Amino acid sequence: LIRIVLSRAGAQPVVVVSALAKVTAQLLESGNAAADGHLGLALAIVRDIYVRHEQLADSLLDGSAHGALDRELRDEFRALESQLHDLEASRRLDLKSQDRLLGFGECFSSALVKEALCEAGVNAAYVDARSCLVTDARHGQASLVWEETNQRLRDTVGPLLESGAVSVLGGFIASTADGVPTTLGRGGSDFSAAIVGAALSASRIEIWTDVDGVMTTDPKLCPDARVIRKLSFDEAEELAHFGAKVLHPATLAPAKRENIPVYV
Ligand code: ASP
Ligand code: MG
Repeated sequence: LIRIVLSRAGAQPVVVVSALAKVTAQLLESGNAAADGHLGLALAIVRDIYVRHEQLADSLLDGSAHGALDRELRDEFRALESQLHDLEASRRLDLKSQDRLLGFGECFSSALVKEALCEAGVNAAYVDARSCLVTDARHGQASLVWEETNQRLRDTVGPLLESGAVSVLGGFIASTADGVPTTLGRGGSDFSAAIVGAALSASRIEIWTDVDGVMTTDPKLCPDARVIRKLSFDEAEELAHFGAKVLHPATLAPAKRENIPVYV
């Protein structure tokens, strides 16, 4: 990731990250365990997530940067643990609490990536996605309030771009106009990237993922799957709509509206 960002330095990149692999699923598992009364299991899962982030931070950062991140991560994990205690007490994980819970993954990863980029010499700035992306309160898969979102992104990320900083945002997470955490639905971080790209009139949107592009079929199911070199927005939207997992179904809408090419 650092190498990719460094190689794009001349193009004024903005970085949108998802959670580390499997973390969102683990958070969901921990929330369900807590709501079922298995607090010990829930805390153990979260402990595992914490250790993974700590180990990654260890390998990427030295001394003072690590100390600062460590304090930040520790505070966030304490908040996460306290939410698990609440879930155990209420015995209920509704979509509103779930949005708050699942968002921790992107909070951790974006804080980590911001520090790692700084350590690599990039002038990276953390931008709180929840104060920029505004949605309705349809928890679990909220809908964007476009004008407000575009305005906030331009007001926040615009000046950072002008000052030469690389903004780092967590994907997937947003909030209602009055600040209640929401999410854009599973796999939503590439949608966030397209939202940010469209708001800032980016010249291109790049999605870096675990496959080399949109493919003719799922390569895990069929090793003969081939990369499709070029697709129209309509064709790609249709594939996503009918279940291709490479892109969140809503990803292409903002790119299409602004006619910004998307590279997977
Ligand atoms: N971390 C979120 C998820 O697993 C969003 C994403 O990965 O795009 O659904
Ligand atoms: Mg993902």
